[in-house]
Amino acid sequence: MTIETIGHVINGTETQGSGGRFADVFNPALGTPCARVALADAADVDAAVAAAAAAFPAWAATPPLARARVLFAYLQLCRQHADDFAALVTREHGKTFSDAQGEVVRGIEVIEFAVGIPQLLKGEFTDQVARGIDAWSMRQPLGVVAGITPFNFPVMVPMWMFPIAIACGNTFILKPSERDPSPSLLHAKLLKQAGLPDGVFNVVQGDKAAVDALLDHPDIQALSFVGSTPIAETIYARGTASGKRVQALGGAKNHMVVMPDADMEMAVDALVGAAYGSAGERCMAISVAVAVGDAADKLVPALAARAAALKIGDGMTAGAEMGPVVSAEARRRIEGLIGEGVEQGATLLVDGRGHRVEGRENGFFVGGTLFDHVQPSMSIYQEEIFGPVLCVVRVPDVGSALELVNGNQYGNGVAVFTRDGGVAREFVRQAQAGMVGVNVPLPVPMAFNSFGGWKRSLFGDHHAYGPEGVRFYTRHKAVMQRWPNTATSGAEFAFPQMK
Ligand code: NAD
Repeated sequence: MTIETIGHVINGTETQGSGGRFADVFNPALGTPCARVALADAADVDAAVAAAAAAFPAWAATPPLARARVLFAYLQLCRQHADDFAALVTREHGKTFSDAQGEVVRGIEVIEFAVGIPQLLKGEFTDQVARGIDAWSMRQPLGVVAGITPFNFPVMVPMWMFPIAIACGNTFILKPSERDPSPSLLHAKLLKQAGLPDGVFNVVQGDKAAVDALLDHPDIQALSFVGSTPIAETIYARGTASGKRVQALGGAKNHMVVMPDADMEMAVDALVGAAYGSAGERCMAISVAVAVGDAADKLVPALAARAAALKIGDGMTAGAEMGPVVSAEARRRIEGLIGEGVEQGATLLVDGRGHRVEGRENGFFVGGTLFDHVQPSMSIYQEEIFGPVLCVVRVPDVGSALELVNGNQYGNGVAVFTRDGGVAREFVRQAQAGMVGVNVPLPVPMAFNSFGGWKRSLFGDHHAYGPEGVRFYTRHKAVMQRWPNTATSGAEFAFPQMK
């Protein structure tokens, strides 16, 4: 049987490039390769940058409304192909089909935002800032920009970036995760079908070699990265050192604080979905439940029952609540951390290690796992596990809960569950995190608000998509204009000021 090879898209044409290296792409539910992906070398990256640079002047000069019309056509195509995208996600990532459909919708919403670009690019104008002089500002595209994306949202996270970058008049190179590369090719195909000129959107598949070539390339103006914190930190340091604009979103350890007065049924539902949905492989997943006061008495037994009863299976199986994790390596790492939690003295209430699914014996499954009495010094608390493992930390009061949240190295999302408006308000004001939920476990902002964490969850100044995305992908220019008239009175040597 010949296996499909997933290549690059450079200047509108699919190619396997000159890298000569390939990696297997797995179906995690089956535990077997479903395709292989070409891994770019520096020459492939050079070719993509050259194509994007050549396409830039004409695309940047295209009126914003005409650019938006291409995106309108692409939006329609994405809606028509939404389930094709979702099926690719389930095949290569493993998440359930309904979860993958949700990811696709959240990605499409960014296109819906980006088609408003004529409105978003409007500058400001001030008449008569001095006699005979008007001032205005405008935002202009940067040039060639690149996006490097993680495995866990292979449709949505690239769509946080390129619809806005392209709408603003930039040309784009996407370097998707090598673990689930197929959706990137469907994006390229649909963009071409929508009428996007060749070279405006390019895809370079690959690993560190491709990323290094992008980081060092002098013709790339800006880099958006989403992935783990150690890589985000390196990308930010190296990219900015070479003069690029960089936004690098990293990992997370999201807490959900449950007050004793919370609606416990609601809190349990929220925790089960947010901790075990997508097998915990979401940057906004809740991985720490902070039980305040006697909240643990009701919370913990209910969570244990639900974690043990999760319906785990192939993501394409109707009714599956959770699929496999992405790779055998991820399963090893997650099971290793569960072992460390036991060794370090946490109470393991539900053990997901060694989970087998009938008919999918080779799949990369980990069962829902629940720890109680977790201490902040333990590695299961310190590290981002990125698997279906929920840690319960017990604290006496809301002050200690905030201290725990704010002492954590990450600051992506955080939630508080309570019926007390005063507690919620103060929590929102004091939490050191970029996104806060009140009785909402995954406070992922909509496309017209921007997404991003604080502390070691984001390196850079701009959050992703929404108005911050428009600012990231454009440069501000301030213009002062005077037209000659009879009132001019010769050269001026003093620093200009309003007269
Ligand atoms: P990852 O950091 O391993 O990979 C991300 C990207 O970097 C991929 O394209 C990969 O090919 C590339 N890469 C990997 N190793 C590299 C290296 N040594 N040098 C250069 N490039 C390299 O992340 P992942 O495992 O694909 O994704 C999961 C991580 O992403 C988690 O930490 C998760 O929290 C994070 N994430 C964060 C957000 C957010 O918005 N903050 C969103 C989604 C995922």
